[in-house]
Amino acid sequence: MSLLKEAIKQVLKKPVTIKYPFEPGIVPPGLRGKPIWDMSKCVLCVLCQNACPTSAIKMIPKGPDAGIIYWLDRCIFCAECADACPKKAIIITNEFELADFSRANMIYHYKKGEASQKK
Ligand code: SF4
Ligand code: SF4
Repeated sequence: MSLLKEAIKQVLKKPVTIKYPFEPGIVPPGLRGKPIWDMSKCVLCVLCQNACPTSAIKMIPKGPDAGIIYWLDRCIFCAECADACPKKAIIITNEFELADFSRANMIYHYKKGEASQKK
C-alpha cells in the first residue's frame, strides 16, 4: 500500500529534469565557465601562463601582438589562472555553452591595452 502511495506521489510531482537545450539551462552559483581577460589591467607578468595546467594560455611579451593567447579547447575551467593573477585581470564567467564547429574559432587573442574582453 505504501508503495502505491509513493508511486502516486511521484507521478503527481513536477519532473526534476529540464528540457535543456529547448529551455535555458540552470547555472548553479559559483560555476566555473569560460575565463575572459581584461587587458586594461594585465601587466603581462606571465603568472597565468605558468599556472595553467593544460597550456591553454600563452603570453606574447612584446611587439604589435603583445598580449595573451587563450585556447578554449584546451581549458579545463579550473580557474588557476584567475587565482594566480595579481591584477585580477582574469574573470571566470559562468558561460558554459562553448561548443563550436571549428577549433580555430576557439582561439582568443587578447591584445595588451584592450579594455574589451573580445576575441
Ligand atoms: S581555467 Fe585552468 S585550464 Fe583554463 S586557462 Fe585558466 S588555468 Fe588554464
Ligand atoms: S592576466 Fe594577470 S597573470 Fe596573466 S599576464 Fe596578465 S597580469 Fe599576469
